[in-house]
Amino acid sequence: MKTLTKEMQASITPQQAFELLKRGNERFINNLKANRNLLQQVNETSDGQHPFAVILSCIDSRTSAELIFDQGLGDIFSIRIAGNILNDDIIGSMEFACKLAGAKIIVVLGHTKCGAIKGACDHAKLGSLTTLLDKIKPAIDCENTIKENRNSSNSEFVEKVADLNVRLTVNAIKERSPILSNMIQNGEVSLVGGMYDVGSGLVTFYDETIEANVKMEAEESLIK
Ligand SMILES: [Zn+2]
Repeated sequence: MKTLTKEMQASITPQQAFELLKRGNERFINNLKANRNLLQQVNETSDGQHPFAVILSCIDSRTSAELIFDQGLGDIFSIRIAGNILNDDIIGSMEFACKLAGAKIIVVLGHTKCGAIKGACDHAKLGSLTTLLDKIKPAIDCENTIKENRNSSNSEFVEKVADLNVRLTVNAIKERSPILSNMIQNGEVSLVGGMYDVGSGLVTFYDETIEANVKMEAEESLIK
């Protein structure tokens, strides 16, 4: 697997970037890690980086984006924060990744059995964590199918809130960033939500949330 050059990054479409991530996760769950020389990649990226994706995921130790999508150095801008929540600094990081550094896809990746989601479901309070968990509350408010046991003891409730948290975050990125919203409308960047299953390693993308005015079919001859 080659380190991305500026030319390679420029030639990847938003749809192809999505396919690259899907294939990477397929390799991961099948234990077919691509052959990479990380030390060589250190050398090859020493003068610059040209990642194709920016991924917002949780700090959970089981959800490292590079590992679960089988990517190497210089492939992914990885934004990690408990509960994969959004704030202005994270939006700014995404704007940098896409507008200035050329990334082609934004992924909001939640995961099952998320401690931050559970904490929000239980209205946990602890120092500055309280204000972080407040950002998950809109997802709890949106979840209106479960009437009883709306707390972390109810795994169905927890997973539904995690799902809504991803979907609301996808929408919020478009609403809160005119820069990213324009790039998406112009087909320069795609935006998609997904859920990582900590039990299987599988990422399920919310394909219906993908945003890109790109009709191009994914090509087979991507980056080998
Ligand atoms: Zn988590």
